[in-house]
Amino acid sequence: MESWSLFADWHTHTQYSDGKGTIIDNALAGRERQLRQVAITDHAPASIGVGFKEPATTISQMRTEIEAWNANEQTPQLLLGAETNLVSRQGDLDLPPQLLKQLDLVIASLHPLVRPLEWQDGATMLLPNVIQRYTRLRSRQLRNTNTKALVEAVYRNPVSFVAHPGLWLDIDTEELAEACVCRNTALEINCQHTDILADYVAAAMPTGVDFVISSDAHLPEQVGQLEAGWSLAKKLGLPPERIRNAEQRGETSE
Ligand SMILES: [Zn+2]
Ligand SMILES: [Zn+2]
Repeated sequence: MESWSLFADWHTHTQYSDGKGTIIDNALAGRERQLRQVAITDHAPASIGVGFKEPATTISQMRTEIEAWNANEQTPQLLLGAETNLVSRQGDLDLPPQLLKQLDLVIASLHPLVRPLEWQDGATMLLPNVIQRYTRLRSRQLRNTNTKALVEAVYRNPVSFVAHPGLWLDIDTEELAEACVCRNTALEINCQHTDILADYVAAAMPTGVDFVISSDAHLPEQVGQLEAGWSLAKKLGLPPERIRNAEQRGETSE
């Protein structure tokens, strides 16, 4: 892996959700770290208290800011994405298909503090997930419900990668990873939580699934902080060819 490096950070937050910086702040931080690409991926509307509102308007406003930066061919190139939430047991995400289509990249996340699509989803998935998050009680049934919801989400939506699989909420990573292989979706190695997520990454590896290493930055200075994920990948013996934002030094895809 010595001759390889990471050229992109595809999971960063701004003031459009619970991040501290602006889009430009994240871009400048990415430049400092010599990244070629940074994606802006704020929390979609169902994240309680932090998700952006009025998604159609917000997404077009973000697109305008991003295009203004990219028009000058500055580095890094900015991509517009969103960190969407699982809001039903059937894998519904909290952005409609016509808005997902407008994004350069879609992250799907299973989070505990989310408004459900229907009350039944709240009662059988979202609420039990909040309880699991704060008590660490494990339940096989909930593990199955969560896994099925994520697998459905990957099959039904254009998901680029699933963020932090296994974070706070137990899932069958192997089953999810197999679905991702069929759909050409990647799994994330989230640099904020490598300690909790190492086992999940290890469980997914034998399926041949690809990975993305991202910072999940909520502060501009965290953009491009990818070292924790990179060393976990090294420790687990993950071939760099399977890390989608890794490239061999000196090589450019343009
Ligand atoms: Zn998240
Ligand atoms: Zn995030």
